[in-house]
Amino acid sequence: MAEGARAERLAALVAEQELDSLIVGDLVRPGDSSAEATAGLRWLTGFGGTSGLALVGPSVRLFLTDFRYVERAEREVDSGFERRTVEQRLVPELAKALSGRVGYDDSQTSVRALRQLTEALPDGAELVPAAGLVERLRRSKDAGEQRAIAAAASLADDVYRWVLDRGLRGRREREVARAAEARIRELGAEPSFPVIVAAGPNGALPHAEPSEREIGAGELVVFDMGATLDGYCSDCTRTFATGTLDDEAAEVYELVRGAQSAALERIAPGLSGRDADSAAREPIAAAGHGDHFGHGLGHGVGIEVHEAPRLSQRSDDVLAEGDVVTVEPGVYVPGRLGVRIEDLVVVTADGTRNLSSLPKELTEVD
Ligand code: ZN
Ligand code: ZN
Repeated sequence: MAEGARAERLAALVAEQELDSLIVGDLVRPGDSSAEATAGLRWLTGFGGTSGLALVGPSVRLFLTDFRYVERAEREVDSGFERRTVEQRLVPELAKALSGRVGYDDSQTSVRALRQLTEALPDGAELVPAAGLVERLRRSKDAGEQRAIAAAASLADDVYRWVLDRGLRGRREREVARAAEARIRELGAEPSFPVIVAAGPNGALPHAEPSEREIGAGELVVFDMGATLDGYCSDCTRTFATGTLDDEAAEVYELVRGAQSAALERIAPGLSGRDADSAAREPIAAAGHGDHFGHGLGHGVGIEVHEAPRLSQRSDDVLAEGDVVTVEPGVYVPGRLGVRIEDLVVVTADGTRNLSSLPKELTEVD
């Protein structure tokens, strides 16, 4: 879908909220934004720079940037937007253009930016907290977005195969992680997040930083990796074995694999994020490992590697066609081992389409 159609949908949602317009963009570090902070702006306008704000409503499509990004804005920003270059700071300039009831994302606004907006606000204009509107629309991925995510996932799978060809045993976790990140870049992408390689007892820390520890024989190795390609992320975890496992490790692996496929079988439009989580959590709890699955089942993936919807006991989301989500149960036995298996799937009319191509049977590597 073209960005223009996205602006149309957002304008309709803005009107539904009884707002005249919505400010889209980073109001924490405007002018020096991170990629995460401008994910909504990029989705809406196509702009990938670090300095931009947009205003969208039924009768307004305005995009502001500073002089550094004039050419990039010309190239990238959807032509339905009036493009303005700001001489000084973005926020006071934007404030001057506001009228009526103006929504802003109070979860992405600093006290300082709010003060700047308030000070320059024309008479009659009013600022209204309105978080999460763009995120709501970003949830459903159109065909082009699904293709981009699938391409990122496929690239990461190629890197997995490349890594496994080189073996794990006797190498340091950090060395393996850095090699994988370098390979992702060689293939023209960026890591979606720092690669996690956590072997043996380190695997019990679900978001372990790769250490200088040497990967031993007969260990489980939690390997979590994603690529960002053309602005879209992927996310996949596999847990490999470096030789024959002891009984406990082998049992935990099969438990997680079974829980993961139980959740995959249930996922379809209409299933709540909570029930999806339960589908994996119940067999894990029944096996006595309920306390060892300390995170939710999954999360949406798109421009950001963690976005709506959430699959967990605390989620109010209900899955819908077009969602792209991870399914990643894990069991972490403190001081001993960890197993996580994570696929990335598109929610389709009748279930899921799996974007992860790597096998899930226990894979032994050197
Ligand atoms: Zn992951
Ligand atoms: Zn994940």
